[in-house]
This record gives sequence, C-alpha cells and structure tokens, in this order.
Amino acid sequence: MKVLVPVKRVIDPNVRPRVKADGSGVDLANIKMAMNPFCEIAVEEAVRMKEKSIVTEIVLVSIGPAQAQETIRIGLAMGGDRGILVQTDMAVEPLAVAKILKAIVDSEKPDLVITGKQAIDDDSNQTGQMLAALLDWPQGTFASGVTKEGDKLNVTREVDGGLQTVSLSLPAVITTDLRLNEPRFASLPNIMKAKKKLIDVKTPADYGVDVTPRLQVVKVAEPKKREAGEKVADVDALIAKLKSVGAI
Ligand code: AMP
Repeated sequence: MKVLVPVKRVIDPNVRPRVKADGSGVDLANIKMAMNPFCEIAVEEAVRMKEKSIVTEIVLVSIGPAQAQETIRIGLAMGGDRGILVQTDMAVEPLAVAKILKAIVDSEKPDLVITGKQAIDDDSNQTGQMLAALLDWPQGTFASGVTKEGDKLNVTREVDGGLQTVSLSLPAVITTDLRLNEPRFASLPNIMKAKKKLIDVKTPADYGVDVTPRLQVVKVAEPKKREAGEKVADVDALIAKLKSVGAI
C-alpha cells in the first residue's frame, strides 16, 4: 500500500507569534519554522504502518516556499521514502492545496492519504475534507486510532460523548487528531540518510492549479492581554470577592 502524507511548514508551535504592525498578518521574518504538529502525527502513523508491513512506500508532499524542503527532509528522516515540493511563495489556501493534492494523487495513485486535521497557522481544518470530496473518496477525520481489518481501515474518532469507529474502504483520506500517536524524533543517522532521499520540485502550474487567494484577510490582531489576577486570603474572601463583582 502506498501512502501520501502532505506536510505543511508552519511557525514553530513553541514560538510566540508577533502580529505585523499594520495588522496585515503574522510577522514571519526571522521566525523559527517547523513541521505542523498534526502533520508530524500523520508521518508517524504512516511510518508505523510501514513498520507493520501494511505500507510499502511513503511519499511526502509540501506546498510552500523553497524552505519547505527542510520540512520534507524532517519527514524523510522520520521514515518517509521520497518527497515532492510544490514550490510557491504565495500563501496557498486549503482549496488550492486540495486541488494540487488531487492532481498528485491522480499521478501517484496512492491507496491512502493521511493529512493533519489542521494546520496550526491558519487553523482551517479543511484540506483533508476538501481533498476527499474532490477525489470522491471516503474520509476518516480526527483519527485517534487506525487499524487494518481485511481490505478496510478502521478509524476511531473522538466525538462528543465517546469514540466512534468508522470502516473505510480504500482508497481513502484520514486526518489525524492529537492522540493518534506520539511522533518520534528523527535520529542523527536518519537525518544524514534523509539527505540522500529524492525530492522532486514542481510548481502549482505543473498541476494546472491557480493558487490566487480567494479570501481577503481583513485584519489580524493580537489576543487581548490577560489582566493580572488577585490573590485572596481564604475561601470566605473569595466568595465575598465573587459576590462583589456579581459573579455569584
Ligand atoms: P488546514 O486545512 O490548512 O488546516 O490543513 C490540514 C492539513 O492539510 C495539514 O495538516 C496538512 O496535512 C495539509 N496541508 C495544508 N496545507 C498544506 C501545504 N501548504 N502543504 C502541505 N500540506 C498541507
């Protein structure tokens, strides 16, 4: 079984983002970037499936600037086999990403696509679903467990009030939730080995996709600063305080 894993280069989740002075977006100048955490989980799941001999080849795809090669290399060091960089300096919206991925699926013919459930930069949570719709493939979103049963994949999903398991016939799209697995760190020898793995460089035009944005960002603002708290001496003082502000 061949798996395609789209991996997005995003601002490192441990870095505090700064909003540009003109409110037009987040300032990415000299900011540490990393693989989107949900994409790391997707790569890890594909690698575990390969270790269980369910999967034979893992192809990683990133759509973004030249530096997104580094993101692909991380995935190759985790256990991916080869990569495709679809290079563009434009911010590509989920629909255009899904269209490019569909074109790659048409040529690569994977049996499974594992995406993250969302990219932590724009929190869209759309690409996997849109791709499944464009391909007319079944989808298992927010996966917290994936098992193979015969020629089907059972995907466990965390829903309100419990766990739902859906059975998908292949080919299919899965999107990963946080509790699916804990991604491995790439070891130094594997980072060295990954340097020799193949990354094909393409452009959106090679897939006939127009990535011109359809949405206009009106404004980006910092969250409101939290006001300092106040310590109270005991429970009675707490109750009095809550009453005084009308909270109880
Ligand atoms: P989103 O719908 O933007 O929240 O992204 C969900 C998932 O789609 C991500 O975790 C990736 O697996 C995939 N994805 C989104 N944008 C890109 C991109 N530019 N390059 C590669 N994969 C992407």
